[in-house]
Amino acid sequence: MKVDRYNFASQFGDELHLITEQISRMLVTGHYILTEEVSHFEAAFADYLGARYAQGVNTGTDALTIAFLALGIEPGDEVITQANTFNATVTGVIRAGAKPVLVDADEASFLIDESQVQAAITARTRVILPVHLYGKPTPLNRLLTLAQKHDLHLVEDAAQAHGARIGGRRVGTFGAAGCFSFHPSKNLAAAGDAGAIVTNHDSIDGLIRRYRELGQYGQNNHVVTGLNSKLDSIQALILSRKLPNLDSWNAQRRIVAGWYRERLGNLPLQFQSPDDEHVYHLFQIRVEKRDQLLELLRSEGIDAVVRYPTPIHLQPAFANCGWRKGQFPVAEKLANELLCLPIRPDLSVSEVDFVADKIRMFYEG
Ligand SMILES: *Cc1c(COP(=O)(O)O)cnc(C)c1O
Repeated sequence: MKVDRYNFASQFGDELHLITEQISRMLVTGHYILTEEVSHFEAAFADYLGARYAQGVNTGTDALTIAFLALGIEPGDEVITQANTFNATVTGVIRAGAKPVLVDADEASFLIDESQVQAAITARTRVILPVHLYGKPTPLNRLLTLAQKHDLHLVEDAAQAHGARIGGRRVGTFGAAGCFSFHPSKNLAAAGDAGAIVTNHDSIDGLIRRYRELGQYGQNNHVVTGLNSKLDSIQALILSRKLPNLDSWNAQRRIVAGWYRERLGNLPLQFQSPDDEHVYHLFQIRVEKRDQLLELLRSEGIDAVVRYPTPIHLQPAFANCGWRKGQFPVAEKLANELLCLPIRPDLSVSEVDFVADKIRMFYEG
């Protein structure tokens, strides 16, 4: 048996021909940039999230960069985020000219350790940037209170958590801005790179609009140095077709995660602490002999992978940030011990049984 991580064909189902027909029609019109396909998706995505505004950009990394620029980040300003995240979180901060300040991960949730955020705040702090990592919503009460108290913005990196909720409200809508990626690996996937920024604030939305379009206020009037980063119309079309399925796909991911938790529950491994609103972008298990288990699963045709083997503070790209080994011990442990099992909405019980049997064999011989 082969157990894959992705099934792109199933994401289109029998609507594939509708999409290709729409694309064909669009190709011959010559209307490609910021067309009604883009504004249609932006409105639908904002509506889905319960946000006032959404704007499409090239990537999730650009979404972060532009969000910080729109918040008026200046060189030397600090953004607090976590040591255990995907590179893009921190690259977005640096590309906007700010200085990333890291805090360690929490051992149970695999999210930012909220209790360490306060100590990381300085006179230069402008933003707190939690990541809803692997699809699990970061509890925001405490961070929102801290942000308010110190007059900081909260920006959510929701690139792995489209549709996840906290108390009924979708993540990405709690702070000044929420940043999303539609990279093909994500729960809502474009057929290439794509991203979006959502906000409930008029003035921030206006600035996002300028920054994604070379700082233009009306044609040929460039008043700030922006990016050229706009959601592609073809991607917008594809995303609009997929969006109505997102909730049922996320529900199915939760069911698959439940199967894994049930079947692996009595083995000496750890799961991310459960949450009913988790959207399981990734299903992570924490295992001491991670690399041996990875090798065994891969040799059995199971597409298990390691996401992210090097924590942010130990990546060569960030060597000049001055972090050192041992500084964020939980993030380091998680980087060495987490393993992603295949998860997709259409993963079958028999596939989960197969994966679980192999893991059981690993422990029981
Ligand atoms: C995917 C991702 C991003 C953005 O990635 P892009 O590839 O630039 O769209 C940002 N943060 C996290 C946590 C991600 O997983």
